[in-house]
Amino acid sequence: MRAWSVVRPGPVEEESLRLVEKPVPVPADDELLVRVRACGVCRTDLHVAEGDLPVRRVGVTPGHEVVGEPAGAGAAVRGFEAGGRVGVAWLRRTDGSCAYCARGAENLCPRSEYTGWYADGGYAEYTTVPAAFAYRLPDGVPDVALAPLMCAGIIGHRALRRAALPPGGRLGLYGFGAAPICVRRWRSPREPPCTS
Ligand SMILES: [Zn+2]
Ligand SMILES: [Zn+2]
Repeated sequence: MRAWSVVRPGPVEEESLRLVEKPVPVPADDELLVRVRACGVCRTDLHVAEGDLPVRRVGVTPGHEVVGEPAGAGAAVRGFEAGGRVGVAWLRRTDGSCAYCARGAENLCPRSEYTGWYADGGYAEYTTVPAAFAYRLPDGVPDVALAPLMCAGIIGHRALRRAALPPGGRLGLYGFGAAPICVRRWRSPREPPCTS
């Protein structure tokens, strides 16, 4: 299959990212094989390609805003039939056993692994994802509209939930690009924004 590969981390102007041929990946027992339909571009992909992040997998394929369709599954996977679409995001795997995982804060897990950094991501015709970290996606929304939600959208959604917006409240999203990192809320248009 065709895939983009970080052949030598460095400035992208010096072709650190190249189009190569790789074998179609074989999913592990708990993984899905995903045929990629769209993959968004995140600044973190650039950090991987340029070596701002330490190498976790030599020749890695970046891309962690993936929309695709299940094309195969490991022996232990249940509940993902052919057809439909799945999303693959940045958080790829956690240990499932630490204090953070136990309280539902798996994004803080010290043994977490990431798509397109620890494992090949979505700048390819196929990728894999642990089934427990695959998102089922609804019909009726184009692939390219869903893809950015797999990273930037998740960040904004988390911020929105933490803001606990009251009914009728106003919401301000601060930041740039698709990933505003801070949410502030107003109880009413006349009140100043809270500082939390
Ligand atoms: Zn990202
Ligand atoms: Zn954990």
